[in-house]
Order: sequence, then structure tokens, then C-alpha cells
Amino acid sequence: MPDSQPSSRDGASTSDRIPRLPTVTAAEPMARLLRETGRLVEVVRTCIGCRQRADRTTLVRIVAVQGPTAVVVTPDRNGTLPGRGAHLHPTNRCLELAVRRKAFGRALRIEGPLDLDALAALIKSPGPSA
Ligand SMILES: [Zn+2]
Repeated sequence: MPDSQPSSRDGASTSDRIPRLPTVTAAEPMARLLRETGRLVEVVRTCIGCRQRADRTTLVRIVAVQGPTAVVVTPDRNGTLPGRGAHLHPTNRCLELAVRRKAFGRALRIEGPLDLDALAALIKSPGPSA
């Protein structure tokens, strides 16, 4: 009789034994490359409001621009403005925290009156990014 194989082994050895491909994304070798060149460090910034570290893309960069009467805290949505920058979550909570702890002056190395209107306007009406 050729029917010597126990039929129960077949069912157990099919679905469980298929080797799973490791879920390595294509971005990983690139991430390692960036880490070795030191550029990946740039991705994480600290919010000057809540002091949480966050991905740079979730924070808004701000720079100090000297205006006629005050230093204008200017949101730098494209990341292109020159000068010393700081990062903040674009939320009222983090804006308030940053104001209360005078984080703008410290982070941007500025003194005197600050004009936060542009930043506040951005946070209060976060329209679609142009
Ligand atoms: Zn924050």
C-alpha cells in the first residue's frame, strides 16, 4: 500500500512554515547612510514650548526678524529664512508655554519686545500649506 504517509502532517506544514520576508523598507539603508553622515540628527528638534523632542516636520521653524519697533518672531514655513531658528509645535498650548517661559528670547538670543502676531496667526488659522 503506497498510502503510508500520515495525512495529518500535510495540513500542519503548509501555512506555518512559509518563511516570512523581513519587512525591511527601502528607506532603512538610506537612514543608516544619513546617520553615518550625521544628517539624520537634523530631523529631530526640540519644541521650545513643551520641550518635547519631535520630528522636524511636525514643528514650525521660527526665526527672529528685526522689525522697526520689535523683533518679529516669524514662522519659517519653507525652512529657508536665514538666521538663528527655533522650533515649536504649531499649537496654542506650545505657544503659550513658550511665551510664559520666555523661550523665544532665549532660543533666538534676542531681548526686548517681541512681535508674535505672525506666529499666532499661523497657529490660530492653520490653513492648507500653500
Ligand atoms: Zn510643543
